[in-house]
Amino acid sequence: MVTLTTDVLVIGGGATGAGVAWDASLRGLDVILVDRLDLAQGTSGRFHGLLHSGGRYAVKDPLAARECVGENRILRRVAADSIEDSGGLFVTTPFDDPDYADRFVAGCRQSDVDCQEIPVAVALREEPRLHPQITRAFRVPDASIDVWKTVWALAHGAQQRGARILPYHEVMSIERDRDTVTGARVHDLRGGEDLNVQARVTVNASGARAGTIAQLAGIEGVRLLPGRGIMIAMNHRLVNTVINRCQMPTDGDAIVPIRTVCVVGTTDQRTDDPDDQTVLQSEVDAMLDEGEKLVPGLRQARALRVWTGVRPLFEDAKQADSESETRDVTRAHALLDHRERDGVSGFVTITGGKLTTFRLMAEQTVDAVCSALGSEQRCRTTVEPLPGSESGRNYKLGERLGHKEQHLRDEQVICECELVARAKLEQAIRRTGSSNLDDIRRQLRLGMGPCQGGFCIYRAAGVMHELHGLSAEQADASILAFLQERWKGVWPVLYGDQLRQARFDEWIFHGVLDVDHLPAIASRS
Ligand SMILES: Cc1cc2nc3c(=O)[nH]c(=O)nc-3n(C[C@H](O)[C@H](O)[C@H](O)COP(=O)(O)OP(=O)(O)OC[C@H]3O[C@@H](n4cnc5c(N)ncnc54)[C@H](O)[C@@H]3O)c2cc1C
Repeated sequence: MVTLTTDVLVIGGGATGAGVAWDASLRGLDVILVDRLDLAQGTSGRFHGLLHSGGRYAVKDPLAARECVGENRILRRVAADSIEDSGGLFVTTPFDDPDYADRFVAGCRQSDVDCQEIPVAVALREEPRLHPQITRAFRVPDASIDVWKTVWALAHGAQQRGARILPYHEVMSIERDRDTVTGARVHDLRGGEDLNVQARVTVNASGARAGTIAQLAGIEGVRLLPGRGIMIAMNHRLVNTVINRCQMPTDGDAIVPIRTVCVVGTTDQRTDDPDDQTVLQSEVDAMLDEGEKLVPGLRQARALRVWTGVRPLFEDAKQADSESETRDVTRAHALLDHRERDGVSGFVTITGGKLTTFRLMAEQTVDAVCSALGSEQRCRTTVEPLPGSESGRNYKLGERLGHKEQHLRDEQVICECELVARAKLEQAIRRTGSSNLDDIRRQLRLGMGPCQGGFCIYRAAGVMHELHGLSAEQADASILAFLQERWKGVWPVLYGDQLRQARFDEWIFHGVLDVDHLPAIASRS
């Protein structure tokens, strides 16, 4: 078995783990990061897309609100290229308690959330699809954040400083020498081999699975209360600003414009399964009904797809009440130094929190790592821009279109919905070395538009086949896996135009390509 040695082993390549890898690399530590999936394929890749201003938590969870305020300001600078400065509005609709608005203003003032009341007429002029009977409107610095861009920028930044980033490597066991964790045994899911990673400190950043990983280290009582939430992407930006209902956080009370779509969300159901991807029709209906309260007519718009994420909410086992509602558990994060807590050194768990606060979580974690290693290197992630964000300019909708208009004749488009050019696709295929079209999708937004891959995915498979020299069987398998993954999100919203699109896609894939009987697939049976 191959043995790798490092200063820090990070388990988990979501925003938190990638943030830890970036921070630790900037402090000169040698890092290995492993994830059982591709990066940001856990909760980080399945969230609502909101860079919180803190407004959402201003009344209910002032600590969480304060953390969001600070991190929002920092990330706008250092991760500028991943953020669209859409701004945010909290609006009182006819369905909300009108008294909440004053508590909201007071909460924002106390938590330092920048909040300004604006005339309703101004809000309606800016966002004409909003419910016409809103009675109050508050401007806050919410924004939307592209998580895949962020996490890959963190990973690339760490790699440039020598970190080894290993997606599709699952931790099977944690190694201990008496009271010290010494690393982990990791299985390479693509190569099929096991690796022995010896680390001076191991960081458990495995999100909703943090309890399971802690158990592998022989530590009990790291208790997560996973909260499952669904979100629905509509095929247009029905709003250009993040819109929240001005009320206590509840289901379906926010719409976030992300790239070319907007996303309605979310729910919060307690689950025992950190990989729970259940979508109930009743939840979809409830979400669309709630969306109507903010944007009347939303139900008539075209819903593209639905997905589920599971919140890694931490509750200290000593205080846990098994009947707790997950919405009532704090959104603040938990850093567990297991030397202090359990007498096990060389092992730290970081979990809970929000995507908005991943940088702060990483900073505190690497502070603990440095203290264990006797290093006095200071955190630089508040000032060091991520690769691609050096200019400090935020991403703007229309950039891809603007680029395309400059290259009308010299650039072949592979995905028309998301304007993915062939050169970009080839670059991503070469860079990732992946033969999984879904991995490429997350990097480029390939196949994420209205046709959900209907027109582009066989073209992309052809390009990948040529570049990687895939066998027919591998190329077929990649198309089928992509279609299966897309289908999971489409079937719960099969109505109206999306139903027509799905029928059309079915003709393409079954009628023209006969995907169930592609030569390589047929030769297997
Ligand atoms: C429905 C929903 C909506 C949300 N919306 C927002 C929002 O709008 N704004 C916001 O700020 N926050 C939001 N959040 C919260 C935010 O998404 C999470 O707090 C954050 O993404 C957690 O990141 P993480 O890196 O800690 O966990 P994850 O992203 O889950 O990363 C953990 C990683 O560990 C890996 N892993 C697990 N076990 C192993 C193993 N044995 N070996 C190797 N790797 C392993 C997993 O594959 C995974 O990639 C939302 C959450 C949900 C569920």
